[in-house]
Amino acid sequence: MRRAVFLDRDGVINRAMVRQGKPYPPAGLEELEIVPGAGEALSQLKDRGFALIVVTNQPDVARGATSRATVEAINARLARDLPIDEFRVCYHDSADGCGCRKPKPGLLVDAARERGIDCSASFMVGDRWRDVEAGKAAGCTTIFVDYQYDERRPEGSDYTVGSLDEAVKIILATKEKQVKTVEQLKIKIFADGADKAGMLEMYRKPFVKGLTTNPTLMRKVGITDYRAFAKDILKEIPDRPISFEVFSDEFPEMERQAMEIASWGDNVYVKIPVTNTRREPSYDVIRNLAGKRVKLNITAMMTLTQVRDVVAALNPAVPSYVSVFAGRIADTGRDPVPLMAAAVEMLKVNPKAELIWASPRELLNIFQADSVGCQVITVTNDVLKKLSLVGMDLDEYSLDTVKMFRNDAVAAGFNL
Ligand SMILES: [Mg+2]
Repeated sequence: MRRAVFLDRDGVINRAMVRQGKPYPPAGLEELEIVPGAGEALSQLKDRGFALIVVTNQPDVARGATSRATVEAINARLARDLPIDEFRVCYHDSADGCGCRKPKPGLLVDAARERGIDCSASFMVGDRWRDVEAGKAAGCTTIFVDYQYDERRPEGSDYTVGSLDEAVKIILATKEKQVKTVEQLKIKIFADGADKAGMLEMYRKPFVKGLTTNPTLMRKVGITDYRAFAKDILKEIPDRPISFEVFSDEFPEMERQAMEIASWGDNVYVKIPVTNTRREPSYDVIRNLAGKRVKLNITAMMTLTQVRDVVAALNPAVPSYVSVFAGRIADTGRDPVPLMAAAVEMLKVNPKAELIWASPRELLNIFQADSVGCQVITVTNDVLKKLSLVGMDLDEYSLDTVKMFRNDAVAAGFNL
């Protein structure tokens, strides 16, 4: 299914003639003025694969105030100068009772049906309430370009902007179809932690499908007896994957530790760092342990070369995790999304190996990881707490933020 941006014409791609605060179409080519920057903005949408379809009400034809030829001449000029795929025009007036005059969604729905367009992944950009209503009725995301006309304002548009350029920026920045709830995600959420109470709290959440720990987290919460802590946790969490890490820097000892950790339970995955601290890769250890059917979680990975070599060392008959530290990659100013997408591809030769998006930095990472096909994301408590915000109305969230500032100022007793 394709995506489209449905564009109103007058006021959106060309300037509307505003008289007494109300917008009118240009009377002819001599009045036609394309919105500055429209060509470049629309080209960007085109490059992104959007169909660009103008959907315009021209009731002045039915009213006898202008001719169809004039409307078509303007459309032809716009088509010459802008990368529009198609113009769809309603020439009726309200009294005609047609299905195409906006706010009816006919122009959009017909185009969608004929061109195989997914309206729920498409946008409607307009400068009047009829545009927004038509977009909503068709199931599009709606963007209202607000020129402060003296007329009825639209209700419930998804976005309000001041120009076509801003509308295009929003469209370009919007990922395809945001999933609305955590239950709709395919990705498995693993909780990252080391304090017992926090881990058990996470374990009780049905959407937490596994847990991970690491020596840094364990040290932070003051754990000194590694084995006792792990066995204690495993008594409470016997049935979901949980990873414990080796900490030796010598490969033979690493292997010995791994065998002991693996013996603690069927649901235990042994975390093996991809190298030791002398930069020596752990691939032989991984190969040996995988050969003994130890379930592994290869950790601290950041490059595709590491992913390729680890996948080659793993046993395709044994479940394993390949843990790439996307958040730490992002910390270096690099976008982890393309790298993670490539890693997903590399893992396909080993269907029992699953890619973990490790060290997430924000809630959005859960959606990013899901959309590239990552099987697992490890999430800390701080990020999980934000799950209740998913899909929240931004006007409401803005208001909450204003209230927070106000309450804190009052509570602090500030005065000027
Ligand atoms: Mg308009």
